[in-house]
Amino acid sequence: MTASVKLIDMMGDEAFIVQVARLSHKSEGNPESDKRLLKQLVKRGHTTPLEFVQMVFDVDCPVFVERQLIRHRTGTFMEKSLRHTTEEPRFYMPDKWRGTVADQTQATILVQRTYDHISHCYRRLLEWGVVPEQARIVLPLATYTQLNWRVDAHNLINGFLRQRLDKAAQQETREYAQAVAEIVKDKLPVVWAATLAKWG
Ligand SMILES: Cc1cc2nc3c(=O)[nH]c(=O)nc-3n(C[C@H](O)[C@H](O)[C@H](O)COP(=O)(O)OP(=O)(O)OC[C@H]3O[C@@H](n4cnc5c(N)ncnc54)[C@H](O)[C@@H]3O)c2cc1C
Repeated sequence: MTASVKLIDMMGDEAFIVQVARLSHKSEGNPESDKRLLKQLVKRGHTTPLEFVQMVFDVDCPVFVERQLIRHRTGTFMEKSLRHTTEEPRFYMPDKWRGTVADQTQATILVQRTYDHISHCYRRLLEWGVVPEQARIVLPLATYTQLNWRVDAHNLINGFLRQRLDKAAQQETREYAQAVAEIVKDKLPVVWAATLAKWG
């Protein structure tokens, strides 16, 4: 699966986390002490300064992944409405079926046929004048949806990423978490390295 996650906006960075954290001490820093401070914040779980960084992602994912994302209530989500859009639905097809599957191809063919039938049915309903909000009832959990997701760095890292990078999380959702983690690593490198060190 290609997990499509783009960072479309961000408020704050590691320098801002340091600035917020130093408010309680009124102290001045330098690059080395700033780095140490960031590491200490993460190590000791002093998480409030991380909440001052907000990240906004554009996510293109199947509905079954989206259902898991939106369980993280500290985020704010805006999802494309299938009540009002009628574009051709796209469906997720696994590269590999997990479990005790003797014939991978057979499973793929069956599912592809099902998707073709669903697409046909959806199109027909719209052609017959059914409103999109009703025609969409035939669309499965594999249908791709698009959402914008705003979340602060603390809840993103210590909530979403901690839970969804874990082996216990659904593999497809984990792939989205890995794509998010790459962005966090790029934008908040010291915080991310300290987090990985803390998680062990
Ligand atoms: C491996 C795995 C399996 C799961 N299986 C299931 C399942 O079978 N069925 C199912 O329904 N869910 C399931 N979940 C979802 C899970 O129960 C959580 O709802 C989800 O992971 C969000 O976690 P959270 O509540 O910590 O995150 P958030 O909602 O982001 O909350 C973050 C923190 O804020 C607190 N918080 C946020 N909002 C409130 C509020 N309104 N009141 C009180 N505290 C609040 C939370 O307690 C939490 O500490 C699963 C999750 C995982 C990772």
